[in-house]
Amino acid sequence: MEKIQKSNEQWRRELTPEQYRILREKGTERPFTGQYADTRVPGTYRCAGCGLELFASEAKFDAGCGWPSFYQPLADGHVEAHEDRSHLMVRTEVTCARCGGHLGHVFPDGPEPTGQRYCINSASLRLEKPLKEK
Ligand code: FE
Repeated sequence: MEKIQKSNEQWRRELTPEQYRILREKGTERPFTGQYADTRVPGTYRCAGCGLELFASEAKFDAGCGWPSFYQPLADGHVEAHEDRSHLMVRTEVTCARCGGHLGHVFPDGPEPTGQRYCINSASLRLEKPLKEK
């Protein structure tokens, strides 16, 4: 995976303030406020920072936690995991493998077939809907 590196000023110009706070400063949106929390339409969720395909709508499930949740990434190597010891917890942070943007966390309490729950901020995602067939 080829990495994308940009200065903070460049990211600030390209992202909304909310996207910048979450993607570049590892922020978290308040639960049930993100635009994709309850979305069920089919499509591909791309990174809001760089456009990399991250999650497919088929892997989205309702975790009831207020954030879009997926049981697996769209492709191996598109999402990276890192140990996160902030806020007096040990969690696994997930980031975009191309631009390093913060996406959210993954927890081992998801549904089959993976048992994983990728709990992702809506602000880190951009849903691309499939082209309508004629
Ligand atoms: Fe990205």
